[in-house]
Amino acid sequence: MKNYYCPICRAHLRVGDNIVLAAKSPYNEKGLIFLNPEVGNYSKETHPDFEIREGEEYKFYCPVCHATLNDKEKKNLVKMNMEEEGTHYDFYFSNIAGEEVTYRISEQEVEKYGYHKDRYEKYFDLPDEYKKYL
Ligand SMILES: [Zn+2]
Repeated sequence: MKNYYCPICRAHLRVGDNIVLAAKSPYNEKGLIFLNPEVGNYSKETHPDFEIREGEEYKFYCPVCHATLNDKEKKNLVKMNMEEEGTHYDFYFSNIAGEEVTYRISEQEVEKYGYHKDRYEKYFDLPDEYKKYL
């Protein structure tokens, strides 16, 4: 079981087989979005009135505390916390609809997934001495 948390309020973001986030388009369209909790599965679901358009940059919010989850330093990445089998991770995905990128960072390693995984790896390919600041 993979658990996902808000990095700010620590609320569970996974309900059943969905990660539930609030999202906003550049045109101020807002809605809830369901993401697949399996790493590397980029399927998503929204109400038909809240259409996710490929290539647009979305803002993501915790549905519990409404904190912005888009990372302030790592442009175009959205951050959650994740726990699987006792290991804790910083978990990042792209805020651009259609971009398939996932980074999962534990104390030991940086795991990269998805067709576009090279796109933001510059944020993570740091000398070991800096990794503790991620
Ligand atoms: Zn929260």
